[in-house]
Amino acid sequence: MSQAFADVKEREEILLCRTYGRYPLAFARGKGARLWDVDGREYVDLLAGIAVTVLGHSHEELCAVVARQAGRLWHVSNLFYQRNQLELAEKLLSTSHHSRAFFCNSGAEANEAAIKLARRHMRHVKKRDAAEIITLTGCFHGRTLGTLAATARDNLSEGFAPLPEGFVQVAAGDLEALGSAVTPSTAAVLLEVVQGEGGVVPLSAEYLRGVEALCREKDILFMCDEVQTGMCRTGRFWAFQLHGLRPDVISVAKGLANGLPMGAILATEEAAGGFEPGSHATTFGGGELISAVAAKTVEILLRDKMAERAAALGTHLRSRLEDLASRYPGKISEVRGPGLMTGIEFASDARKIWEYLLDRGYVCNLSHEKILRLLPPLVVGQADLDAFVAELERALQVQ
Ligand SMILES: *Cc1c(COP(=O)(O)O)cnc(C)c1O
Repeated sequence: MSQAFADVKEREEILLCRTYGRYPLAFARGKGARLWDVDGREYVDLLAGIAVTVLGHSHEELCAVVARQAGRLWHVSNLFYQRNQLELAEKLLSTSHHSRAFFCNSGAEANEAAIKLARRHMRHVKKRDAAEIITLTGCFHGRTLGTLAATARDNLSEGFAPLPEGFVQVAAGDLEALGSAVTPSTAAVLLEVVQGEGGVVPLSAEYLRGVEALCREKDILFMCDEVQTGMCRTGRFWAFQLHGLRPDVISVAKGLANGLPMGAILATEEAAGGFEPGSHATTFGGGELISAVAAKTVEILLRDKMAERAAALGTHLRSRLEDLASRYPGKISEVRGPGLMTGIEFASDARKIWEYLLDRGYVCNLSHEKILRLLPPLVVGQADLDAFVAELERALQVQ
């Protein structure tokens, strides 16, 4: 451990609440898909701050927008009309069939907004007192009390009871179980098209279409949490578009402002009818500075065809990984995920492999002890992905 890193670690131990078990690294600088730690060592970033820096670090055009807007206006609150928020809404809505946006500050807040909208939509538009939200096993929707209740994972909610009521969880992939869980009290189904924190687990097209059809039949809202899958990562701008779905509401965050904290929901005209002035709000959400950055991020993602890029690079990476898996049977059990959202599941604990890769300068995430999760910036080069696969092969040989 270098002196520079030891200093950081020691200060953190006395200064911060002990909420994080961190990776043994502190970064000082980033450019594109590269990071440098406090000792100047270079890394390939295959995590992008957990699917956040979609256009990579210190993107020149985004730096220019930050500098320009920082000298002009940062924040005035949602008491006022805000042009950059409208600019962002227009660009973001051009990517989907939705017609109204609400901006907030994080993924959990976006899901809170979606949950509140669903309940109010039921009571005020459909005139039914239905408040229950159905979610799926393996899901992750956030860490606020409401989204923890939606997430319903014992290890995350331990010690925090009581959680809000009105959430029901059913087995992911089991359409029959979902059908029996829908009652007159149900307001909506909320799901991730690919479960990210769950270990990069894609739900099947058939199941997803079945869920949507069921929601239509029962006249409840169909909502997709696109916080991790959104912003071109899966090879389409939104993951629901992979399967021709038309969710009433989607929640968005992570990559939206390429690293500045921002969330949003996009809703159809009808679903959005659940809100009226005063029914939901935030102080920071959609501020002038962050909206300018997010609007530019969306513009670049569309202009540079990042969805196509993610699809092509993802296909390449997956075929390389599947080839590796076939040559090391019994070590890699499955390679999953669309576009540049990749899960590599190992037959046993993969911590040693993850450590080996980190030691050689490849930053990725170890999930559920035996899954390597890759969420690289979409600007990552194919050569970096190939070099990663080669390094992974060396890791398999020595482990
Ligand atoms: C990360 C994530 C969230 C929570 O986002 P925060 O910004 O951490 O609140 C919610 N849903 C999904 C699918 C996520 O991946």
